Amino acid sequence: MDHLKTLIREVPDFPKPGINFYDITTLLKDPGGLHAIIDALARHYSGKGVRTVAGIEARGFIFAPALAYALNAGFVPIRKPKKLPAATERVEYALEYGTDSVEIHIDAVEPGQKVLIVDDVLATGGTASAAAKLVEKLGGVVAGLGFVIELDFLSGRNKLAAYDVDSLLHYAS
Ligand code: AMP
Repeated sequence: MDHLKTLIREVPDFPKPGINFYDITTLLKDPGGLHAIIDALARHYSGKGVRTVAGIEARGFIFAPALAYALNAGFVPIRKPKKLPAATERVEYALEYGTDSVEIHIDAVEPGQKVLIVDDVLATGGTASAAAKLVEKLGGVVAGLGFVIELDFLSGRNKLAAYDVDSLLHYAS
């Protein structure tokens, strides 16, 4: 998998000084890039009863529908506040300064339904762990969390210790 790292562009000091941004647009434009990512995540999660793939806004929306297609599952969006039109459930989580939240339609997941959550990058794990809580609030079962990139040095995985986490590309620093 590691050869795919050559397709990830690292942009220093974006969106603010000190952040090294992992840009997946350079992977997406490569004809084999998206294919390799979706195949690898589908291999890991196939046969695990995944009924729904939930993508986290915004870059999770790029990968989750393709993975849902590969797993013969449905797709549901987990969105930033006040974007979804019908009745929603919400989970708030802490940022470095202040809080943020994620929302899901209350009818997006049935009790007992197995849901795979997908995003591009696992950083501190705050967003992903809020997404998992959201699915569980609806009675869903988190079948796993899949990421293209994991920033190992931020230890986001510790917040997701209860789950089957699969990240394809790891960065140690
Ligand atoms: P976190 O809640 O800290 O795990 O942050 C995860 C979210 O922020 C994901 O949706 C990522 O898309 C985005 N993100 C965080 N850090 C980075 C980074 N260094 N490069 C690209 N995206 C990032």
